[in-house]
Amino acid sequence: MQSNTNNSTSASPLAPGWLAVPEDLNALHAPMWAAGVQRNDDGELAIDGVPVRELKEQFGTPLFVMSEGDFRARARSFKDAFDAAFADICGGVDVYYAGKSFLCTAVAAWVAGEGLRLDTCSGGELAVAARVGIDGANLGLHGNNKSDAEINRALDMKLGRIVVDSLDELERVAKIASGRGDTAKVMLRLTPGVHAHTHEFIATAHEDQKFGLSMAEDSGEAAGLSAAEEAVAAATSYSNVELLGLHCHIGSQIFEPDGFALAAEKLLDFLAEMRAKYSIVLPELDLGGGYGIAYTPVDTPRPPAEIAQAMAAVVRSKCAELDITPPRISIEPGRAIVGTTTFTLYEVGTLKTVRVDVPADALGEAGRDHNVTFPRRYVSVDGGMSDNPRPVLYDADYSAIVASRTSDAAPQLSRVVGKHCESGDIVVRDVYLPEDVAAGDLLAVPGTGAYCWALSSNYNYLARPGVVAVRNGAARLIVRGETEEDLLNRDMGVANV
Ligand SMILES: *Cc1c(COP(=O)(O)O)cnc(C)c1O
Repeated sequence: MQSNTNNSTSASPLAPGWLAVPEDLNALHAPMWAAGVQRNDDGELAIDGVPVRELKEQFGTPLFVMSEGDFRARARSFKDAFDAAFADICGGVDVYYAGKSFLCTAVAAWVAGEGLRLDTCSGGELAVAARVGIDGANLGLHGNNKSDAEINRALDMKLGRIVVDSLDELERVAKIASGRGDTAKVMLRLTPGVHAHTHEFIATAHEDQKFGLSMAEDSGEAAGLSAAEEAVAAATSYSNVELLGLHCHIGSQIFEPDGFALAAEKLLDFLAEMRAKYSIVLPELDLGGGYGIAYTPVDTPRPPAEIAQAMAAVVRSKCAELDITPPRISIEPGRAIVGTTTFTLYEVGTLKTVRVDVPADALGEAGRDHNVTFPRRYVSVDGGMSDNPRPVLYDADYSAIVASRTSDAAPQLSRVVGKHCESGDIVVRDVYLPEDVAAGDLLAVPGTGAYCWALSSNYNYLARPGVVAVRNGAARLIVRGETEEDLLNRDMGVANV
């Protein structure tokens, strides 16, 4: 066994440039973890005092481990920060938690309990809200292809808003509402041509995507009109549609407020134009979600108050410039509320080390005529792309630590992989783990609250993991893990072949 200390280890040439060798492999980088997660006196990771080995014994692995207190605190901090920043502009902000990021009845109840509203995008998500008894007035329904059944359900539940995505859908919603003698409360989703991702945004006039009504000048059916303008005119002509306002959502995992600011300005310009042209006053403006979180140590999310103040400054000055009454603002964070509340607990199984060629010139030794090889450790865990498809879908980066103990061993460049029959089945592409990682160790991957369980699958007939919520030192299942019985439940059996 090598005895070099952590500090003497230099970065592997196989590691991406952003990944530093951690000074202390046992330390937790706080922005990636829920409050209440720390190592206990034995060096074992614990959440709200509950150690991970106890969680494994009681619930098995893989397991999603969520802090209820952290979820509630993050929900509240968005609500409080935006309310405070917008208090003197529009009396506060309506915060809709984006249910698609993670939704079950317990979470829906926390959302309602903290004074937030809930965004849904399917009949199934509405069913969760209905099960909890959330008032329809506090629900929104999204989607580019809502079924008639979903629109009817939204009207049955007296939804506060249906976010209409196209001219086609607007006509359908109006027709269904009129057939029932109901009024549909509608927001129009516009595409302002602003696309943001992490630190950059791009602005284009024309949109080439399935969502939303284009604001580009000639995008409508009549010459010179935009689809957005046609939709406003049409919506106000239907007696069974109450047009509340405009909506946009410019992307996800965004750190800089500039993209939100530009989108807000474009929508406020449009609001003023509609007022001037048609004398229509639209009382609401939704600026969507997309606030970024820390998946790795190089991600630096801003606190909600900072984002809220930046956005409030833009709305305030733009409304003053246009001389319009500021609309009531709403936002739709998903990932930024639930993402960091959760880590996934895995058990380590098979280990192997491969040696990878690195060309001499990549090492700055161009004169040398042979390649040098460097080791990469493959650490297999008992889940993978079925409980977290984001690395496969989006090349998403994650981080990991050994959770069941501390280690003084040297850092080794590692790749955490799942157990699926797919070579792309990667959980954490690049991370330094102690070189004494062994089968039976528990590994924790932070930041898996959003779009992991929600996107999980039964690939290779793996049972989807359960979700445990920890509160005040006690863990309880909020969604149980699947069993083999569940996996075979819908299989009609050989008698029907
Ligand atoms: C996905 C989505 C959100 C939430 O995005 P996050 O990145 O999770 O904050 C909000 N609004 C709409 C319309 C969405 O599609």
